[in-house]
Amino acid sequence: MSGGGPVPGAAPELRPDRTLGPGHDEFWNWCARGELRLQACEEHGHISWPVTTACNTCGSTRLVWQALSGRGTVVSWCSFARDYYDGVLPLPWPVIVVALEDGPFFLSNPHGFEAAPESIGLPVRLKFRACRDSAGDFALPLFEPAPAPLPEPPPPG
Ligand SMILES: [Zn+2]
Repeated sequence: MSGGGPVPGAAPELRPDRTLGPGHDEFWNWCARGELRLQACEEHGHISWPVTTACNTCGSTRLVWQALSGRGTVVSWCSFARDYYDGVLPLPWPVIVVALEDGPFFLSNPHGFEAAPESIGLPVRLKFRACRDSAGDFALPLFEPAPAPLPEPPPPG
């Protein structure tokens, strides 16, 4: 499922360096195409995160990059007041934990809402932001409030 690519022409935001290398490169390559994909084991479909070489649940090493819906719910948050990155990130720095509807928890940043106690339980959807680190430009997955689902149609008859 697509969350759309970064907004064309938007100036990339500076971010701390990503972890790159086997597995991580594939993750970021999918993000660059506007897709959130995580590793799923071929036998059972368990989804693992962060990047791994074996399924977190069954240990299988047969992993495929599976596209996720990009929808989830905020289950935790915090706001960092301490500068861990030599001034790269503005403080306070908001962080959220999203329970993806496809399974794993995903650490991210909020877009268009505050990381606050009231955001617990908020339905969110994926959005990519153009960012840059010392390795170059990349698309960072963030989460914004999801529009309310359409009401169920009335039953026929
Ligand atoms: Zn598995």
